[in-house]
Amino acid sequence: MTIHQHDFQAPRDADPTRIEIPAQRARRAVPPLPRPVPRPVPVPVPARPGHRFLVYKQDPSVTALGARLAFVPTVVLNGPTDARVRTELQGVTPVARDVGGDFVFAAGSPQFDCAHTFAVVRQTMAMYERHNGGNPIPFAWNVGGNTDRITVFPHGGEGANAFYSRTAKALKFLFFTPQGQPPSQVVHTCRSLDIVAHETGHAVLDGLKPGWLAAGNPPQTGGLHEAFGDITAIFLALAEPDQAEALVALTKANLHDRSFLPELAEEFGRALGMPSGLRNADNDLKLSQVGNEVHAISQVFTGAIYDVLADVYTFELSRQRRTKDATIVLIETASALCKLVFDAIVAAPATGARYVDVANKMLQVSAGRGDPAVYRTFIRNRFAVREITTAATPLRDLMSGRMAMTEPGYTGDGQDVTEVEAFDEHSASLRADQDRSRCCGTMQMPEYQVVPAEKLARRGSLDDDDILQEDLEELRRAFSK
Ligand SMILES: [Zn+2]
Repeated sequence: MTIHQHDFQAPRDADPTRIEIPAQRARRAVPPLPRPVPRPVPVPVPARPGHRFLVYKQDPSVTALGARLAFVPTVVLNGPTDARVRTELQGVTPVARDVGGDFVFAAGSPQFDCAHTFAVVRQTMAMYERHNGGNPIPFAWNVGGNTDRITVFPHGGEGANAFYSRTAKALKFLFFTPQGQPPSQVVHTCRSLDIVAHETGHAVLDGLKPGWLAAGNPPQTGGLHEAFGDITAIFLALAEPDQAEALVALTKANLHDRSFLPELAEEFGRALGMPSGLRNADNDLKLSQVGNEVHAISQVFTGAIYDVLADVYTFELSRQRRTKDATIVLIETASALCKLVFDAIVAAPATGARYVDVANKMLQVSAGRGDPAVYRTFIRNRFAVREITTAATPLRDLMSGRMAMTEPGYTGDGQDVTEVEAFDEHSASLRADQDRSRCCGTMQMPEYQVVPAEKLARRGSLDDDDILQEDLEELRRAFSK
């Protein structure tokens, strides 16, 4: 609308006195109005710092989820860098925020790879910090006031692998061209949420349990490290409402239905000829089937946790289906189970931890925090059928498909047992040397093969001389003759 000046002028025939007189009378007749008491104006809440990141929700091959915006609610500097994590990619970093203060770049560009990888590492750490009462989890070298960051290398070199190294204080994600594919079909491990979460899981666990990476531990301790990485990827996906909702719709709220959730590192696995991802958490492996091969042993533990998750979700969905959305129930159930696993691992032995140790801590923490007894039944059952623990309460209902999945107090025989035994003390997974040949790059780092468990367990930085210590001592003896 055009506003003309004459819109504000009095009409030409108006008598000015007719305006003045009532005004004067009003001033005489009515006492002056009290000055209005100033009403407090709501002070706007200051905007919290935070940035948008564009990330692959699973990996480039899981097109149903694709790339979406994620919000990181903490200060992130150009790099991306914050107080715990920095990013390094030669010729690309530091990556500057865009004009909106965000890290949003074209999917597949080097800047995207830096932002995406940083965001997933940051989200993984934030998830465990929440379970740690909001407190930071130190990296293994953060002792005596040391605050060194971990450095993330999104293009850490060529190869079909990724790893965490305490010596390098780094997470390295490699890239490769699958056999028989043109060079344009490069697979970047950094673009997989599962792989980034898995390797970050190794770094978090090395901070919590610095003695567990040593190859001198029983194979099951190595299995706990590998399993923790995979479980981290599953719980991270379920901590994201869009992923949880997509999953509920895709599977009609049945976690044993085929989906992207239990399939780990889909694109990577397919590139290596595995149509269901590199590993599948929804497996039926038992300890007697896996010998001393750590990667296979890990799948037994991961599978047990996945089954417990599916059981608890079935129970909680039945209990809350009239009062809560199925996606919210899944997010809450997964978060509570993740916290239970986290607390159980923190409470487990510093070295030589076995699956039965973590299972018992899960039972005890669950009872201590007042979960319904049926939670412990799920945990006992799932560890027992995988030959991890003895069956302290009967498995007959589980084995005949008659589990009372919806009864909070169901125990099988009235016994709410919170201490079970190892199924077979002589299992190769407890007695043999670790075979790490099929594990991720972390488990194959020499620093965890040769540095003694006691040294690793003391925490602190490592350097090359720690790795070569035995050789150097031998040389010192030889040269002093
Ligand atoms: Zn691993």
